[in-house]
Amino acid sequence: MYDIAVIGTGPAGISAAITALVRGKSVAVVSNPASESGLYKAERIDNYPGMPGVTGAELSEALISHARSLGAEIFTGKVQTILPNDDSIFVGYGMEMIEARALIFAPGVVRTSSFPGERELLGRGVSYCATCDGMLYRGKEVCAICLAADAAEEAEYLSSIGCNVFTTDSKKIAIGGENRVEWIEIEGQRRSCDGVFVLRDSVAPDVLVPGLELENNHIRTGASGETNIPGIFAAGDCTGTPYQVAKAVGEGQLAAFAAVKYLDAQK
Ligand SMILES: Cc1cc2nc3c(=O)[nH]c(=O)nc-3n(C[C@H](O)[C@H](O)[C@H](O)COP(=O)(O)OP(=O)(O)OC[C@H]3O[C@@H](n4cnc5c(N)ncnc54)[C@H](O)[C@@H]3O)c2cc1C
Repeated sequence: MYDIAVIGTGPAGISAAITALVRGKSVAVVSNPASESGLYKAERIDNYPGMPGVTGAELSEALISHARSLGAEIFTGKVQTILPNDDSIFVGYGMEMIEARALIFAPGVVRTSSFPGERELLGRGVSYCATCDGMLYRGKEVCAICLAADAAEEAEYLSSIGCNVFTTDSKKIAIGGENRVEWIEIEGQRRSCDGVFVLRDSVAPDVLVPGLELENNHIRTGASGETNIPGIFAAGDCTGTPYQVAKAVGEGQLAAFAAVKYLDAQK
């Protein structure tokens, strides 16, 4: 079990990991590949103190290697499940799961809009995780909505285990059914199906953690990054504007201090 799990290898997550490591905590970071993040693609960052003209890729790589050099364990994958328990939190990505005593969310800007019917039918035919739920749909008709870089791979996995898969990358979607998914409408064309896999790069934080409070589509936090759920903290773009590296780094540090304090108070 780790002391702290961090979601995201952007400036907020890495800053949080560095501070927690320096404070003697064990840290696991789970993130999509850094090379797919917005920061990595930034041509030039001119307003991060001390590093004028650094490219997004250079900054991203420097951050990650700094955290690694201090002992951070960094796992690549999309976090699809978070299960808070009495005294620990399980974080699931792909087929893997890690357990930590506290969690720092730093997933960057997460678009929280969803398709009509998606949230209502979540767990009743709508899924975000082919690996977790695919087996439930063997021999059944499923739609894979491919909106993430690895979505085609996930759709192929569904086919390989015996699901009858059709794919779309349309964003004009509606999902419906009485008590569970019965149909999907793509660009106004309705088609029956038993399951819909919505394969995005990220999952809205309040879907990952039911009950997590948002405010204007950002995670609602106190001054030190604490959310409304004990043991869960947030930092960076996910907490609100300005979307800037320096703000993300500062918030990551504050969230780590708060998480360390929380853990020390549990002893
Ligand atoms: C093109 C561009 C240029 C920019 N230029 C500047 C600039 O000049 N100056 C400046 O200060 N800022 C700039 N920014 C903004 C800056 O990049 C962000 O404010 C900063 O990166 C936010 O850091 P973060 O750690 O909160 O999130 P991010 O850097 O977005 O990192 C979050 C990471 O978490 C991952 N993630 C999300 N959800 C999940 C999940 N469910 N499971 C696993 N991983 C997940 C993401 O894929 C990403 O890798 C720019 C942004 C872009 C896109």
